[in-house]
Amino acid sequence: MKIGVVSDIHANIVALEAVVEHGKSLGVTKWICLGDIVGYGPNPNECVEWVKNNCEITVLGNHDNVAIRREEHEYFNPYARQAIVWTQDCLSEESIEFLENLPYTAKAYDSLFVHASPKSPSDWFYVTALDDALECFDYFRPGACFIGHTHCPQAVQKPDDDSFHLVEGSEFTYEKGEKALVNVGSVGQPRDHDSKASYVTFDAEDRRVQFHRIKYDIAKVQKQMKELEFAEYLYQRLSKGR
Ligand code: ZN
Repeated sequence: MKIGVVSDIHANIVALEAVVEHGKSLGVTKWICLGDIVGYGPNPNECVEWVKNNCEITVLGNHDNVAIRREEHEYFNPYARQAIVWTQDCLSEESIEFLENLPYTAKAYDSLFVHASPKSPSDWFYVTALDDALECFDYFRPGACFIGHTHCPQAVQKPDDDSFHLVEGSEFTYEKGEKALVNVGSVGQPRDHDSKASYVTFDAEDRRVQFHRIKYDIAKVQKQMKELEFAEYLYQRLSKGR
């Protein structure tokens, strides 16, 4: 069974649709979402609706939490703040209700799913440096832990207590009893200097993880954001992948 794991869709329905089409062509039958469904992009309700109807598991992201006004946006940069205020006004009752009921973490398929970090999920720690990643291994049981939040795909394997290695290439498998930390990257706003949408597929029985990058119509999203008078920085960054 192939599971598609998406994160940081950020209201980019065009990118999401391209990812879903690609996933289906690979035989993905289940989807899991790691949060930040909204914020930054122009189609929050459409993205929430897709996640609500298609994801078996969904966890809460920090932008989702601000969008439903459960957390302040003081720590956001001015562009993110402008977008989240617009999002707050745009969200439907149904979208708000769905986001309000999301958990911070979920366990399934011998794996842990969390938006930012398995260490204190509600503090939204950024796992950017190797040290941050290695610390995460203390907070989940053998198997995989899937995260998003940084918008940069990367995986670290930890076969035992004394060793680890960064995954190179676009796929890997891990043995039963081993641990793997997998950042799936971002569907709607990648920041690793690659503008293509990022997601992973996961085969739980074989413990195989594959990274994918998918081209989508960035200009279409940019045009829509421009018409909505979003900050230029927010739509220009999509084509830069940062
Ligand atoms: Zn995000």
